[in-house]
Amino acid sequence: MNDPNCIFCKIASGEIPAKKLYEDDDVFAFHDIRPQAAVHFLIVPKEHLPSLYDAGMSQLRPLGKMLALAGELARKEGAADGFRAIINTGRVGHQEVYHLHMHVLGGPEPLGPMLQRRK
Ligand code: 5GP
Ligand code: ZN
Repeated sequence: MNDPNCIFCKIASGEIPAKKLYEDDDVFAFHDIRPQAAVHFLIVPKEHLPSLYDAGMSQLRPLGKMLALAGELARKEGAADGFRAIINTGRVGHQEVYHLHMHVLGGPEPLGPMLQRRK
């Protein structure tokens, strides 16, 4: 089920350390190693799915939990006034790690526009 070469599978198994803030049978959450906002963590399914392209009806439980936990964990981490959830997917989405994950980014400072506008 898991990919021995995958960095997030290794974090899931504890082989690579990370600052975990949540874990259950389906998902886990940990701080991003290169934070891009005051609050920046990732919510990740334990099952190795390369990207959101690979998710389907068989993964409703972990997918649902990723959304269901975002607000609660964001508040706990100090983003009480709003946050953004992002799932980068594939080449066009600038995905770097090919194990599905959702970024949760939050304030206190506003995050700015979602994407830079094209000139
Ligand atoms: P992507 O572009 O794939 O959506 O983002 C991958 C994210 O994973 C990046 O923000 C990067 O900083 C984070 N990341 C990559 N390797 C590690 C790691 O070993 N530990 C942690 N905590 N985060 C990582
Ligand atoms: Zn993986």
